[in-house]
Amino acid sequence: MSLEKLRASFRGDILQPGDDGYDNARKVYNGMIDRRPRLIARCVDVADVMAAVQYGRENSLLTAIRGGGHNGGGLGVCDDGLVIDLSRMRGTRVNPAARTVRVQGGCTGGDMDHATHAFGMATPGGTVSTTGVAGLTLGGGIGHLTRPYGLAIDNLLEVDMVLADGRFVTANEKEHADLFWALRGGGGNFGVVTSFEFRLHPVKIVNAGPTFWPIEQTPEVYEGIPGIHSRCP
Ligand SMILES: Cc1cc2nc3c(=O)[nH]c(=O)nc-3n(C[C@H](O)[C@H](O)[C@H](O)COP(=O)(O)OP(=O)(O)OC[C@H]3O[C@@H](n4cnc5c(N)ncnc54)[C@H](O)[C@@H]3O)c2cc1C
Repeated sequence: MSLEKLRASFRGDILQPGDDGYDNARKVYNGMIDRRPRLIARCVDVADVMAAVQYGRENSLLTAIRGGGHNGGGLGVCDDGLVIDLSRMRGTRVNPAARTVRVQGGCTGGDMDHATHAFGMATPGGTVSTTGVAGLTLGGGIGHLTRPYGLAIDNLLEVDMVLADGRFVTANEKEHADLFWALRGGGGNFGVVTSFEFRLHPVKIVNAGPTFWPIEQTPEVYEGIPGIHSRCP
């Protein structure tokens, strides 16, 4: 696939060195990482992801997938290769009756919490709202809600993804069950996840932080926080 053909079929942005926005698009959370990809494909839908994967494969390009860009080692960006950037794919859909949420592969924890909070529900994510749901979940995912509800992967019901050969598959306990098993902790090694579906739990407000009083005084401490009524046992 030539670059012209990729451009013709692509709805998002394709950035090359020297383009406006290129330097901003190659930045990741860890400011020590300074990599210069040959191409950044900012996808807006699954069709864009499929085209980008095909382009990378046919041109033998080293390929990095970018979700929230929080990986400490900077695995969401590479030198002289292709970055498949999902940061424009941040749609969410809550199904309140089924108590599930589907989020696109570029969503941050804040995007997901914002969508589910309106329904009085949440699922375990991280502790920082700007971390990507994708990298966090594919690595396991531990956060404020892990004690009552487990890791992010314990609540993962299904993913949609584009494999390296360009095929789109849905993986869950029944379809591609081996792939679904591997994804839950295996990191970004199995393809580009375009959306995740999670189980939700009834959660309204979480108060987190250290307390410096004896545990027996917890109800009293809670009563002192404006707007909070003690729900302690
Ligand atoms: C400030 C901060 C707070 C953090 N807090 C927590 C926390 O509370 N709990 C916790 O468990 N972790 C936490 N982490 C760690 C974080 O979960 C990992 O660094 C994770 O890799 C970040 O995911 P990302 O999508 O933001 O990163 P990226 O750098 O975009 O991606 C990380 C990895 O996932 C791959 N990847 C990204 N998107 C996709 C996709 N759509 N499909 C397939 N592969 C993909 C990338 O290729 C890369 O290998 C934190 C990190 C930071 C910097």
